[in-house]
Amino acid sequence: MTHTVSGLTMRSILEGIKKVSGPQYKLVLQMSGLGRFEAEDNWPAADFTPVATQQELETIFGSIYKLLGESITRLFLRNYSAGVLQVIAGSDWWQAQLARSREIPAGQRLGWSVQMMVQASKDMQWATAEFQEDDKAYYMLTRNCPICAQIAGSHAPLCASEEQIYGGLVLQLVGYRVVVREVACMAMGAPACKVAFYKK
Ligand SMILES: [Zn+2]
Repeated sequence: MTHTVSGLTMRSILEGIKKVSGPQYKLVLQMSGLGRFEAEDNWPAADFTPVATQQELETIFGSIYKLLGESITRLFLRNYSAGVLQVIAGSDWWQAQLARSREIPAGQRLGWSVQMMVQASKDMQWATAEFQEDDKAYYMLTRNCPICAQIAGSHAPLCASEEQIYGGLVLQLVGYRVVVREVACMAMGAPACKVAFYKK
């Protein structure tokens, strides 16, 4: 199968797994079919080079949930999100987005930012995202969320960890803290994961 998942995503995941899985680190990687990344020397560079398949990506999150349970999965996702945010914010790609955002009138910048992140999610082949808007908020809708694809029965929105990534990025783009909340999650049985970016 074709590799579509970037080294940036995979490296952030490997760092997150290493932090929370302890003695089960090897088992999690083996169950995900990622034994090739077991030694840290074999970890991919944090760039946009594709290094794994979408199926492998979904299986990682599913395996972590099955092996380590809901609360450890949350801890893992928080670590993972912090890592992803750091890598994205340090990239040349991000500097270019920041420069573009400064050309957008302040009143339109939040809507523009959410649309840009929806497009980036597609460009980076993370998921097929959709943009929506109502009078309260802008929304990012994901019907094939790789985090939640193999997970069911979660007690609260699971990929809510992504609030950290999107909240951190949007803060840099608009210059003030936006309330970002996951309002529906496939891991709880919703047809899509939906993140709201509330208007002031
Ligand atoms: Zn999700």
